[in-house]
Amino acid sequence: MNIKKQILIKLKRMESIFPELNFKYKVNFNLKSNTSMGEYSMNNDILYFNMNICKKTGFKIYEDIVIHEFAHLIINYKYGKNVLVHGKEWKNIMRLLNAKNISATVDFNKYIETNIKVICSCKEHFISKNRFTRLKNGQKYKCNSCKDYLKII
Ligand SMILES: [Zn+2]
Ligand SMILES: [Zn+2]
Repeated sequence: MNIKKQILIKLKRMESIFPELNFKYKVNFNLKSNTSMGEYSMNNDILYFNMNICKKTGFKIYEDIVIHEFAHLIINYKYGKNVLVHGKEWKNIMRLLNAKNISATVDFNKYIETNIKVICSCKEHFISKNRFTRLKNGQKYKCNSCKDYLKII
């Protein structure tokens, strides 16, 4: 499935957890930054997502960023500017939304490095840094679907 669609579905699911809130936010997929994975603009009520990074990490890893930014939105809707950005209220929302990583600063570069994109004949694969090093050194890995060897791109 298209990654943008996955993000939108995830947002809808999270919205349904807060039926008491009247959501009006907008979603923008054009965040271009090498360091910012996602952002929430409190003033404009816009969630920004970074597709360049999302494509590198895959949705499964990026999902936590979607939760992270959505939790900021929830905090804004519930408390406005009266609480800390990554305070205990935010952490509680993160837990409620089943975020894997509750900490405020997530080093997603680590994930990008450890999920390197390679290809076979049928699709893209994301492999760990260690596996990538072994692949570079001549180790062969086969795709389970097409039985072709994984290739570095
Ligand atoms: Zn944050
Ligand atoms: Zn394949």
